[in-house]
Amino acid sequence: MKITIASGKGGTGKTTVATNLALSLTRTGHRVALLDCDVEEPNCHLFIQPSFEKSSKVTVPVPRVDMEKCTGCGKCAEVCAFAAIAVLGGNVLVFDNLCHSCGGCMLFCPEKAISEVDREIGIVEHGTAKGFSFTQGILNVGEVNTPPLIKEVKRQASEAEIIILDAPPGTSCQVIETIQESDFVLLVTEPTPFGLNDLEIAVEMVRALEIPFAVAVNRHGIGDDRVHTYCEEEGIPLLLEINEDRRIAEAYSVGQLAVEVMPELENKFIEFYDSIAHHLHVGGIGGSDEKLSRRGGG
Ligand code: SF4
Ligand code: SF4
Repeated sequence: MKITIASGKGGTGKTTVATNLALSLTRTGHRVALLDCDVEEPNCHLFIQPSFEKSSKVTVPVPRVDMEKCTGCGKCAEVCAFAAIAVLGGNVLVFDNLCHSCGGCMLFCPEKAISEVDREIGIVEHGTAKGFSFTQGILNVGEVNTPPLIKEVKRQASEAEIIILDAPPGTSCQVIETIQESDFVLLVTEPTPFGLNDLEIAVEMVRALEIPFAVAVNRHGIGDDRVHTYCEEEGIPLLLEINEDRRIAEAYSVGQLAVEVMPELENKFIEFYDSIAHHLHVGGIGGSDEKLSRRGGG
């Protein structure tokens, strides 16, 4: 089962949920893979101290023009939907950072003057941490083309029974790339007006993708109850609440996860998994739950 942990904005506790869920389910005997798809700012590794076994470069093809063959006709610039290639005064300029590697310019060049070269956009590291498999992508500085790197991170998890994806924050194309093919999305938020605002946007995104989802409230106890009211009115299941607790921050400061110092939290993560496993007809760990509704739960 693929579960994506997402949020409408950064700093809500998405990584807290992803890492603690991974460890809790590993302790129940499942083969778990955690994928850090927040390739612009991966931070799961800070909390789980992984040992990496392999690291590989990720490249994308970009066009290069043979000026001996080029006639300066401008067809390549005409077909490029991303303004990544321009013809000026008989010269062809390629803007690698804008190129989406669609191959259109190469296909339409009447002189067959365009070929492709590989351009490195980042690396993927793969290893283990706390008994589960762990993969992260790291985008090169200044690079904007995140989807190919996220795809490569996702490719590493085929062996696992439960795959947990820590998505980038927000609702951009890199989040959509992460969420696609997921069986379930958990939207993490904080019980504040800002949290609610970003949650509403994230809910719209997941509904458009037609993937079952629920909400988790982190730092429960701060702020107000507007997130709870919203979920109730919208029929969205609220499947996980993590109370504001100083011990969670203290655990992180010494490289531990919350469930390692607060064992009572582990059950919450297991119950959450059981709820969605039951609903999606995948074998759970024990117990059942009918809390998921169609509007939020699929
Ligand atoms: S389409 Fe080919 S021949 Fe025409 S300008 Fe582009 S590279 Fe040159
Ligand atoms: S490969 Fe596609 S995106 Fe890149 S320059 Fe050519 S047409 Fe534009």
